[in-house]
Amino acid sequence: MNDLGIKRKILDKIKEYDKIILVRHTRPDGDAVGSTKGLQAILRASFPEKTVLLLNEDYADYTAFLGAEDAPIPDEEYAGALVLALDTGTADRLSNKKTGLAREIVKIDHHIEDKPYGDLCWIEEHRSSTCEMIVDFYDSFREELKLPREAAEALFVGMVTDSGRFRYRETSGDTLRMAAILLETGIDTDRIYAQLYLEDFASVKREADILRSVKMTPNGVCYLYISLKMQEKYGMTSEQASNTVNTMDKIKGSMIWIAFIENKNAATGEESIRVRLRSRFVEVQPLACNYRGGGHACAAGATVYNRKEVRALLADADRLLGDFKAQNPDCL
Ligand code: AMP
Repeated sequence: MNDLGIKRKILDKIKEYDKIILVRHTRPDGDAVGSTKGLQAILRASFPEKTVLLLNEDYADYTAFLGAEDAPIPDEEYAGALVLALDTGTADRLSNKKTGLAREIVKIDHHIEDKPYGDLCWIEEHRSSTCEMIVDFYDSFREELKLPREAAEALFVGMVTDSGRFRYRETSGDTLRMAAILLETGIDTDRIYAQLYLEDFASVKREADILRSVKMTPNGVCYLYISLKMQEKYGMTSEQASNTVNTMDKIKGSMIWIAFIENKNAATGEESIRVRLRSRFVEVQPLACNYRGGGHACAAGATVYNRKEVRALLADADRLLGDFKAQNPDCL
């Protein structure tokens, strides 16, 4: 629901505070980075007297072209601040672990709500991205807010990446209307698409190699298992390994595809397996919730700890797709 009341409350709350801290989810994607960077630029341009900081504890290489975030501040400087938590479904997924030190938290998000948090929440699960919501926020208060070009560029990045270049089912008339507002600021979309989607020669060759190891379950779930050994062999960062999920999105009859990426925590040595679930037509978010995860209907994440859990998750996904196909024989 597009609710002007909650947006007004959020703008009033922002006006009450001298210091605002923007945070987003860990392992950030284009929407997490774009929405926080975009809103930061809007607030800085609109309220130059306020201190508006973007404070997180992890970063993504592929959105580095949008510029750096702010340097950490001492804990005591959180007191009296307002935190704006964007694109983060549950508090445990916040990249910044100090938000509890702030006076109030406002949550703005488009994920399916599982464990609510925040003093004020604006959640629209049908939205294609949090960036779309931030553009809508700007559009609702054009008299009071400014949209500088750098904000429009960051917001466009989030809109494009979270909607699969305006392809996923959440893409609505509103999505395109909000994108139009960004285009009208004169952003250079050629440059943005080049930054986001061009790959160097070596990684295209590596992808071809990795595609050979895609497997398929009896009902058509495609999956890739990227071990730590494989990551070492190909010299891949864990971000590059995670992105392999997208290589499986064009296989007919495979409406669910999953990448398992082995991880080792550098500090604790703890090993885990990141699961990235993607689908068309059939919803995988409930499946992700059964394996310590969540997200969106057709793009969700989870965590498992051993091969036995990998097999169990695959068996569940296979059953889900089998049932779906039985009821929807025309879906590709
Ligand atoms: P990913 O595969 O990590 O890009 O995740 C797909 C979507 O699910 C993103 O919107 C994530 O924010 C969300 N997501 C990923 N992992 C989790 C998790 N453990 N709990 C809740 N949501 C998640």
